[in-house]
Amino acid sequence: MEETKYDLIVVGLGCAGLSTAYYAAKKGMKVLGIEMNESEGAIGGSSTGYTRIWRTGHTSPIKDVMMEEAYELWKELERDHNEFFEEDEPVKLLYKKGALMIGHPKHPDYPSVFSSFDKNKFIKSSEIMKRYPGLKNIPEESNCYIIQNAGVVKSKDALTTARKLLEKKYDADLKFNTKATDVTSNSVKIESGEIYNATYVVVATGPYTSDGFDKSEAVASSLETETLTFTSNEDLPPVHIELLSNGTRFYSLQDGADLTKYKIGILGPRSISSTLKHIRNRMPDKVGLLEYGSPCFFTMVEGGDFQYKTSKEGIHFVYGFSGQGFKFMPLHGKVVYHGLLKKEDQKYIPDCYRAKI
Ligand SMILES: Cc1cc2nc3c(=O)[nH]c(=O)nc-3n(C[C@H](O)[C@H](O)[C@H](O)COP(=O)(O)OP(=O)(O)OC[C@H]3O[C@@H](n4cnc5c(N)ncnc54)[C@H](O)[C@@H]3O)c2cc1C
Repeated sequence: MEETKYDLIVVGLGCAGLSTAYYAAKKGMKVLGIEMNESEGAIGGSSTGYTRIWRTGHTSPIKDVMMEEAYELWKELERDHNEFFEEDEPVKLLYKKGALMIGHPKHPDYPSVFSSFDKNKFIKSSEIMKRYPGLKNIPEESNCYIIQNAGVVKSKDALTTARKLLEKKYDADLKFNTKATDVTSNSVKIESGEIYNATYVVVATGPYTSDGFDKSEAVASSLETETLTFTSNEDLPPVHIELLSNGTRFYSLQDGADLTKYKIGILGPRSISSTLKHIRNRMPDKVGLLEYGSPCFFTMVEGGDFQYKTSKEGIHFVYGFSGQGFKFMPLHGKVVYHGLLKKEDQKYIPDCYRAKI
């Protein structure tokens, strides 16, 4: 039996787990993080890849309020890093450059995204294709809308930033290549048989784990997505595009971005060959510029981008879901920390989310 007793053990170091570990360690908790992959945000988890979208303009106003709060916390994370690692290159995690939303009115998700937008500000697809060199074959009947208060999160950098601060500033113990095999409300057993104890245990093993920890009731939807992460462009601002289902909807970022200049990486549950078909149609000149492709989990849960709850055994669970869990990353940690201290059985429900923190 391991002697050290931690205040908190977090199992799984994707965006939800790292955020939880970071917030708690910053508040003075002695934290142990356990991750089965060799690094944070490794291929296979939902947090893998270079970029994600953050945005306002949600149909549910509470999410815009949450985004505002998350925005401040993102800035705080950047500041924390840049002040502590003053010798290192300063990090910039959030880019506010607007988000282009393109939706086909017949797509099932169309109302949940487009119903809050001002129809008078829709832009024609032909105009969009001129404005964003490299975007082609947008169906004429699509509606296009630019959200000004939106942009890109550099997701890979965000995870690395949290990890660095946890290890170097907040004295947390992070174990990689270490798979947890069993958890109780105050202990975690790993594959080698060792057991670690803590006052609190948080399971953040991802929205779609299949190893027995998944008590999230999350249902992987039939929605398929391709996330195109634009990489190898250190001199260009980050860009992120998502194509859902048969290409009827996608998001792009950076008003006026010239996509012909970027290389791309692809994340998503589809096979690479179907992805290539997709790209050939939408951005034919990109096919030769593919940097990487990797499958990862994309889980849709009705009504939630994020879930935090405590099981009747007293184990805490936290997950980011859908296409929206990353942008709230620093807020996840704050919510969980408050949940731990209050020992409340919470499930993320937008309307009462802020009342609980
Ligand atoms: C294709 C795609 C596009 C997306 N686009 C956006 C977007 O534009 N904007 C946005 O805000 N969000 C977006 N999201 C959603 C967001 O990325 C997820 O909600 C978020 O990354 C989920 O994080 P997580 O920490 O809950 O899970 P994960 O990132 O999956 O983390 C779980 C971690 O637990 C580890 N683990 C699992 N089992 C064990 C075990 N037994 N022992 C130890 N470790 C274990 C895994 O290796 C993994 O590292 C997107 C997601 C996908 C997949």
